[in-house]
Amino acid sequence: MYTAIHAIYHRPSSGCEFFEYEETEGYYLAKCKVLGRYLTKDAAIKCENYWRTCPYRKIGLQMMEVEETTS
Ligand code: SF4
Repeated sequence: MYTAIHAIYHRPSSGCEFFEYEETEGYYLAKCKVLGRYLTKDAAIKCENYWRTCPYRKIGLQMMEVEETTS
């Protein structure tokens, strides 16, 4: 992970249920639970603004549906 591309200097926020962030030394790191990794700040901005049309979110929602029907 590289601070230059991952560090976010405002508290990130997204309506996506798969979006997470953590606060570290003076900046935030955003994570996607579908991708299972940290997001670059450019990707995190897309999560903030365009989460409704994110293809990974659609995959995540489908995975949740499968889990619900098999459990
Ligand atoms: S990449 Fe897509 S699925 Fe992942 S947190 Fe961002 S909006 Fe959600």
